[in-house]
Amino acid sequence: MYINENYLKLEDSYLFSTIAKKVAEFTKKHPEKNIIKLGIGDVTLPLPPIVVEAIKKAADEMGVQETFKGYGPEQGYAFLREAVQKYYLRKSVKLDADEIFISDGAKSDLGNILDIFGLNNTVLVPDPVYPVYVDTNVMAGRKIIYADANDSNGFLPQPDNNVKCDIIYICSPNNPTGAVYTKEGLTKWVEYALKNDAIILFDAAYECFIKSPELPNSIYEIEGAENCAIEFCSFSKTAGFTGTRCGYTVIPKKLVKQGASLNKFWLRRQTTKFNGVPYIVQRAAEAVFSENGQKQIKENISYYSENAKIIADTMDKKGIWYTGGKHSPYIWLKCPDNMTSWDFFDYLLNNIGVVGTPGSGFGRNGEGYFRLTSFGNKEKTIEAMQRFSNLF
Ligand code: PLP
Repeated sequence: MYINENYLKLEDSYLFSTIAKKVAEFTKKHPEKNIIKLGIGDVTLPLPPIVVEAIKKAADEMGVQETFKGYGPEQGYAFLREAVQKYYLRKSVKLDADEIFISDGAKSDLGNILDIFGLNNTVLVPDPVYPVYVDTNVMAGRKIIYADANDSNGFLPQPDNNVKCDIIYICSPNNPTGAVYTKEGLTKWVEYALKNDAIILFDAAYECFIKSPELPNSIYEIEGAENCAIEFCSFSKTAGFTGTRCGYTVIPKKLVKQGASLNKFWLRRQTTKFNGVPYIVQRAAEAVFSENGQKQIKENISYYSENAKIIADTMDKKGIWYTGGKHSPYIWLKCPDNMTSWDFFDYLLNNIGVVGTPGSGFGRNGEGYFRLTSFGNKEKTIEAMQRFSNLF
């Protein structure tokens, strides 16, 4: 019996447990202090009413002989895949419905997709990064190299033609930095991937926060991307599905490597190892694309975007350098006075009772940076920024 020894190489992440411990200690010492948490990456607004209605209706159908559903298609029901297909058309991206695979969220597919790639691939991830990209590849034993994201490139690294890699992770709008690639920026990555026979894994989990039509919501807005990119998206941040679980993955049929169709590989993988997303959840996701659904989710996204603006405006007023906040729920700021990420965490907690996330928890280049999120309550965000303004 042999274990997968790669698991021994995983670095323990103490980021969120250390934050929780520090907050608990502070609360014990100062029970009178009202703490405001701007560190959370989870949504807080409830599901839109139209989604709740769809869930109830689908649950009723499951209790009636004539409309009961057992196993569904592993790649998702046609009604939802066609709704996603239409959604892409808003930006003139034409997909076939069988290029869309319904998932139980972006995280699962971002990890599972690696099943269809060989172990000898070199993987390029930006630093700082959403830790899932790194850990899933460590588990498989792949070689990982990093693309430096920093203040000189606005936390949007560009390809280096002297570096050879096979699998490239890009997340835009980015978690943790909130930075968003322009079409020109993404075009350089697509050109690199085509030239080097590499694959881009494009994480669009936060695309709904993009407000400018000039900025790409999908990698397929870039010419040639259908030959080199797989896209992952999710209803988690778009429609508050973090606890409901639904997403989708796009694998164009033109994506052929060593003569093999990656679309077919993924279909085979999914039909072998996955039994689909619950019917009830897929009906809930379908409701998101209805006219009323789009209206209702936009209200929630606007609520978070206003919070992001409140935070970003405060940084502007104080002359603090940051990325994000405009087309993203995240604000990634440079810690004032050259403080380290954890020093700044302690400073904010001890002086104004505001909690954020130390940037160093997302990679070496995150040291000296700090992430604030807009997923909280508006009044509390305003109060937190008033306290912040009084401190600096
Ligand atoms: N991708 C990024 C960049 C994320 O930040 C998250 C969640 O925070 C996910 C994917 C996971 O999304 P899901 O809830 O669909 O699994």
